[in-house]
Amino acid sequence: MDVSLNFKHSYAELSPEFYASVEPARAPSPKLLQFNTSLAEELGFECDLLSPAVSQQVFSGAVLPRDARPIAQAYAGHQFGHFVPQLGDGRALLLGEIVDRYGKRRDIALKGSGVTPFSRGGDGKAAVGPVLREYLLGEAMHGLGIPTTRALAAVTTGEFVMRDRHLPGAVLTRVASSHIRVGTFQYFAARGETELIKQLADYVIQRHYFEITGDPHPYLSLLRAVIERQADLVARWMLVGFIHGVMNTDNMAVSGETIDYGPCAFMEGFDPDTVFSSIDHAGRYAYDNQPAIALWNLARFAETLLPILGYENINDAVAEATAILDTFMPYFQKCWYKGAQEKLGISTRDNVDHISEADRKLIDDWFQLLTSSKADYTTAWRCLADVADGDASKLQSLFDTTVGLDSFLERWQRMQDDLSDGQIAANIRDANPIYIPRNHLVEEALSAASEDGNIKPFEDLLEAVSNPFVEETKFARFASSASVNFTANYRTFCGT
Ligand code: AMP
Ligand code: MG
Repeated sequence: MDVSLNFKHSYAELSPEFYASVEPARAPSPKLLQFNTSLAEELGFECDLLSPAVSQQVFSGAVLPRDARPIAQAYAGHQFGHFVPQLGDGRALLLGEIVDRYGKRRDIALKGSGVTPFSRGGDGKAAVGPVLREYLLGEAMHGLGIPTTRALAAVTTGEFVMRDRHLPGAVLTRVASSHIRVGTFQYFAARGETELIKQLADYVIQRHYFEITGDPHPYLSLLRAVIERQADLVARWMLVGFIHGVMNTDNMAVSGETIDYGPCAFMEGFDPDTVFSSIDHAGRYAYDNQPAIALWNLARFAETLLPILGYENINDAVAEATAILDTFMPYFQKCWYKGAQEKLGISTRDNVDHISEADRKLIDDWFQLLTSSKADYTTAWRCLADVADGDASKLQSLFDTTVGLDSFLERWQRMQDDLSDGQIAANIRDANPIYIPRNHLVEEALSAASEDGNIKPFEDLLEAVSNPFVEETKFARFASSASVNFTANYRTFCGT
């Protein structure tokens, strides 16, 4: 089988310290489980050439395209606050980069394709469940309009992987605007490799922040730009109730995309302290802690840049970087309030880039109501559209008492955009999804695929969450929350 995908290799052309060249393990009996045709088209792949028979070979690593140059990328990272100087791709390989139909360069990487020099005793493999989980959650995130890595294919390998029991093995093909992490910078910083940090920073500017090219202080501008993208990203997560679950610095992409869907989950009833991850005992990565943790990670990123900021005195570099880090929280707040305005349908009244005190108060009060009622986060927002249509009953049914709610709704309606009620309702529906990958549905779909070989529930859920703002009668079940008991006992695990 001779396949060529028009791969480019700008990352592999960096210094050899950035990666190790590794061949993928050959899956004994690959079978295509899921293929993302629309993404393949976006990438400019000739789908005629990528029949299932070909795809399952290529996207399991069994057949290497002629122009692939598989590499495992080096990175370090703070895991739960503890620095590990060498992590790296222990179960992933970058095959190459594709310049897509829009001229955007995207990494094509296999995950679960066998051991690498970074495997640290792991088997380099992945199981069907976690592979499909990453597929589904990433596509849901994309459907929500939030920057994310995406899934091109999921292929079962025909072998079992040993976890707490034997599980069917699989390989995920991940598409990312790059796989460069805060931890990639830390890898070189920990080794005192200033020239390599500079090479990496220049590469990141070229690839992700081209507007900075030629800036008199490019690395300060890079820090500012990365901070802004992360603040925006975390605000967007919070507004849809997403909890990443393992925001280690090796799981934070400097591109500003969501990366590494492991123990992540969407919140059901609103509770800012929500944690689902089985290993997050202290709630470090709890819903409400995500902005603070993002800032903590960005401070680690800033530290790696200190030697290249161009100051003779390190104290000056620290002062400058600190001043930029101090912009994170105000910027996050701005993104978050702007997003909340949109979700409440109060964003088009004035075109100014300003959030009034009255709007802030309204948003704060709405969150106060959500917090005290623990109402289903997704449903509560979406029901505001029904209120705009004249029916408050569904929203009221989510709250134990309507005392504070009724006066809030009156105030909200007085502050709404100067549009017809129908248009307001439509705007709210465009800003608030009806379908998120609810935990009980995700588990149901994954266990059907993994244990019964039935991919249908996965495909149905994938279809719903890929187009999450449009209500479909056939997906009514997907809009309902899990039982309180299910959610109270729900735990997620790292996708190893
Ligand atoms: P993650 O939990 O995906 O953030 O992974 C943390 C680190 O563990 C990364 O360096 C991974 O490459 C590595 N890792 C996770 N699972 C495996 C595995 N099954 N085999 C080898 N390395 C792994
Ligand atoms: Mg990771």
